Amino acid sequence: MPLDDFARHPLLFGPSPVHPLDRLSDHLGGARIWAKREDCNSGLAYGGNKTRKLEYLVPDALRQGADTLVSIGGVQSNHTRQVAAVAAKLGLKAVLVQESWVDWPDAVNDKVGNILLSRIMGADVQLVDAGFGIGFKDSWTHALDQVRAAGGTPYPIPAGASDHPLGGLGFANWAYEVERQERELGVFFDTIVVCSVTGSTQAGMIAGFAGQDRPRRVLGIDGSAKPAETHAQVAKIARNTAELIGLGRDLRDEEITLLEGWAGDLYGIPVDSTLDAIRLTGRLEGVILDPVYEGKSMAGLIDLVRNGDISKDSTVLYAHLGGQPALNAYSGAF
Ligand code: PLP
Repeated sequence: MPLDDFARHPLLFGPSPVHPLDRLSDHLGGARIWAKREDCNSGLAYGGNKTRKLEYLVPDALRQGADTLVSIGGVQSNHTRQVAAVAAKLGLKAVLVQESWVDWPDAVNDKVGNILLSRIMGADVQLVDAGFGIGFKDSWTHALDQVRAAGGTPYPIPAGASDHPLGGLGFANWAYEVERQERELGVFFDTIVVCSVTGSTQAGMIAGFAGQDRPRRVLGIDGSAKPAETHAQVAKIARNTAELIGLGRDLRDEEITLLEGWAGDLYGIPVDSTLDAIRLTGRLEGVILDPVYEGKSMAGLIDLVRNGDISKDSTVLYAHLGGQPALNAYSGAF
């Protein structure tokens, strides 16, 4: 059915801001670069890409009579922080499984940033010793069982709100929002650059743009350091979402592009190019990026503009997906 017919519970301020990054564009001397800012899309605990996805999961949770949102991520997950905020806003409980996905030496890693905010918002934060993975985890199933055993009605939200039937809708909607903003601004973004890990952000964009008249490239930059798994998940969610919103054709393989080379060897560990990209964007634009996701996708964008893979006559939209609260847990990197 058409995207507009899906129930959506508004959690954002409205369309997220779009603006040019002129000093960065001039410095790189190639394509013109703009940003669309999911890092300031909502008043709920700093917002971010998950808040946009949750607009489509919340009506489903309320319809099922859920009283507890149950989700999972790393210790510094932006996603679980946004689930905590949405639960607070709705008057629901939140149970958050925070796994030790990242071996990062900052002593305050499990005390500051995202996890601190989730605790402030009253979520039941459960620290679990388990490695990185975007699939369904036993710890999450166990947390769901615990809620049921205590007489509650849990609503399961997988990592990144991605591998969920409605997970791609938020960013399919983003694609239409971009089209409207382009009309208002008199600009066309031929290339979108987006960080991908659990996949539904990029997948939703691909499905949404595929239904529009003017073709454009959606370049995913892998942040998982497990690109085969992330690519498979993006492809799966993009195809499911395209079918759900009635695209009327299958997506072609070449519409699903995940570029690797900027994640380093491990999820959650910044490499030199990540830190360089964070410093450059901060110093030229006053725009803050995080070391787990956006610093990596910006490093990719910078290289693609510099080496001409994104051509000089391109107009690029950099999807800033949020994530800055994690910076506090990475002070040692700077
Ligand atoms: N950027 C930020 C700030 C995130 O929190 C995430 C979450 O994983 C991503 C990018 C990647 O988005 P996705 O998991 O939908 O691929």
